[in-house]
Amino acid sequence: MTQQQQPSPPIPAPGPQPESDFYWEKCKEEELWLRHCKACDTSYFYPRDICPECFSRDTDWVQSSGKGTIHTFSIVHRGPTPPFRDKVPYVPVIVELAEGPRMPSNLVIENPEPEKIKIGMAVEVVFEKLDENVTLPKFRLA
Ligand SMILES: [Zn+2]
Repeated sequence: MTQQQQPSPPIPAPGPQPESDFYWEKCKEEELWLRHCKACDTSYFYPRDICPECFSRDTDWVQSSGKGTIHTFSIVHRGPTPPFRDKVPYVPVIVELAEGPRMPSNLVIENPEPEKIKIGMAVEVVFEKLDENVTLPKFRLA
């Protein structure tokens, strides 16, 4: 019996929700925005109406500098599901943004190897358009 490699289905995309519509619209404009609590002066990620620090609803939006550092990362060599098998190796990363929050993303880097990537390295946001609805914020070494 022969096994044929089926083409991979597309990578699952995030589904914008009412609370995050503004975030995704700004990503399409290649800007990174964070929710910010006016009561306790905390910026946070992911976007939601209620502050995760003090539970206030007195929140607004602030634009991120898009700069941060690598909090942690992994280099994936074996995709967990078919959509990711053609993408290896890729680098999931938790970025600590200059504004404070940590956000999960991907590090865009050619031929990722452990000696090229270190915790604490400076990164900056880049944007990758998936389709008409979703542009993903990713990061590259700064
Ligand atoms: Zn707060």
